[in-house]
Amino acid sequence: MAEIWDAIIVGAGPAGLSAALYLARFRRSTLVIHDGRSRAAQIPLTHNVPGCPSGVSGERLLSRMTRHAVEYGAALVGAHVESASICDRGFALRSNDGTGWSCRALVLATGVDQNDVPIEARARQAAIDAGVLRYCPICDGYEHIGQRIAVIGCDRQGAGEALFLRRYSADVTLIPRRYADLDSAILQKLLDSGVRVLKAPVARFIFREREMRLQFQNGAGEAHFDVVYPALGLHPRCKLATELGLAVDDAGALGAESIFGTKVPGLYAAGDVVAGLDQISVAMGHGAIAATKAHNWLRDQDGQALER
Ligand SMILES: Cc1cc2nc3c(=O)[nH]c(=O)nc-3n(C[C@H](O)[C@H](O)[C@H](O)COP(=O)(O)OP(=O)(O)OC[C@H]3O[C@@H](n4cnc5c(N)ncnc54)[C@H](O)[C@@H]3O)c2cc1C
Repeated sequence: MAEIWDAIIVGAGPAGLSAALYLARFRRSTLVIHDGRSRAAQIPLTHNVPGCPSGVSGERLLSRMTRHAVEYGAALVGAHVESASICDRGFALRSNDGTGWSCRALVLATGVDQNDVPIEARARQAAIDAGVLRYCPICDGYEHIGQRIAVIGCDRQGAGEALFLRRYSADVTLIPRRYADLDSAILQKLLDSGVRVLKAPVARFIFREREMRLQFQNGAGEAHFDVVYPALGLHPRCKLATELGLAVDDAGALGAESIFGTKVPGLYAAGDVVAGLDQISVAMGHGAIAATKAHNWLRDQDGQALER
């Protein structure tokens, strides 16, 4: 009979790898399954991970976290988990090539997909590496003090990000991706705060060395920026969670309480897939909590904890 792992974690980003480290150190047989799509891998240099004053690249952080978890006994396998179900042993997972895994406790740390601006993949990565295309004002606003900042997405989210970034620069412009969807109160607040609001949507994003050139539709000209923030929304990767019977909130994310446990016994979630602040340090904290809850739940199941 195939091995039944104490715990499987789907996802090898900061959340999944933190959970793996904790579970391995709780001496649980622990398997991490991931399909190589951690958003953290895109980060050229993050400056807001506590304890890394000179910054650290996402790849380096993930490789150190992987080594750390593996050194304590966690196993890692590269695969896309296509489906998840509840079975008499706990949980059954299946990949798209038909491989199956079983576990008693399951942590979903599957992250999110972000909506993006239309830019060719290589130019996109080059712009990210140069710090010209950014996705997280909380992470990177500090790096753009006094610079020409564009926020793409003329709606409540974009307005919120533009106002947030205004603290770092007097030169912040909000630009529609396709059309503007701002009520008059928000528009007035933006104008009062000194945020420029453009009407013409962007036709082309052209990355040139240290800046992004935006060409507007209908011949409305061109503008150049030191940094562009797409504020176009996210899609939490919740397919496996919903297959297991979990509900998602209006934003499509799992509720904040899912790091402590869900209505499905033995099932936990961690990181960006959970509603909240999409940050590395938060994902790490979620992973630690979910792993400890999963371990204590297993101890309860095995009669190894005090009666409640
Ligand atoms: C360009 C960029 C810059 C950023 N900069 C910063 C920063 O400076 N500071 C900061 O704190 N945050 C930053 N972030 C955000 C940060 O990357 C995320 O908050 C963090 O990666 C979330 O960790 P996570 O483990 O929840 O998800 P992720 O790191 O996205 O990992 C998700 C994991 O799930 C796996 N997965 C998903 N579905 C499946 C499936 N069905 N089968 C198998 N595997 C699956 C993926 O392969 C991946 O391993 C940045 C993000 C981007 C895109």
